[in-house]
Amino acid sequence: MHIMVTNDDGIHAPGILALAEALRELGTVTVVAPDRERSAAGHSLTLHSPLRVFELREGFYAVDGTPTDCVNMGIHSLLPVRPHLVVSGINHGANLGDDVTYSGTVAAAMEANLMGIPAIAVSLSTYERHGHFDAAAQVAVRVARQVLANGLPADTFLNVNIPDCAADEMQPPLITRQGMRSFVGKIVDKTDPRGRKYYWIGSEEPDLHDEPGTDFHALNRKHVSITPLHLDLTNYESMKILSGWTL
Ligand code: MN
Repeated sequence: MHIMVTNDDGIHAPGILALAEALRELGTVTVVAPDRERSAAGHSLTLHSPLRVFELREGFYAVDGTPTDCVNMGIHSLLPVRPHLVVSGINHGANLGDDVTYSGTVAAAMEANLMGIPAIAVSLSTYERHGHFDAAAQVAVRVARQVLANGLPADTFLNVNIPDCAADEMQPPLITRQGMRSFVGKIVDKTDPRGRKYYWIGSEEPDLHDEPGTDFHALNRKHVSITPLHLDLTNYESMKILSGWTL
């Protein structure tokens, strides 16, 4: 088995190192990841500037691009074979609900899914460098083993979120749906040392809708949350309503 690993926190992040190390149990692992933090890059693709690749050591490639660039570089150029699986993570911070559209971690799995390769995004619910990445990596291995053995339903990739706790405190995985939050946006404006204004996109603590069956609900109760995602964003119910419009 050949597994490609990527992330959006950069190739030196503890999460990607723990993940790559653990997945070696299942096969050969090649890491292709951004050379720096690219969180919230979403599904962005670099089309108007060249990309550079740095082989840091055997099977470890840093790319000066986005997570989506890394998947393209890995599959079409750097890996010796087409991988059986792409795993993106372990992200520092959960990727839940509406936030999945911002996530570079989730987008990398989405890109692999578009290429017809089974893919998993894995996130740990912490921003600490010393989170329980090893326990999370063991969860990733278990999910990856299932995907390699059984495949995934058509047009489906997995968004896995893991509570930041020791393995013996963790509750069993639940299959969940994508939740929602009420976002309270905020722009912080300040003045730089040369007297010019600058702005920073901030936010209040998000108000997560803690509804049973959702990713939030599972993670809040220390369950591993596994949400099957697909790229079809069509709102089918709305199609019926809009088809009644006079256009
Ligand atoms: Mn990240």
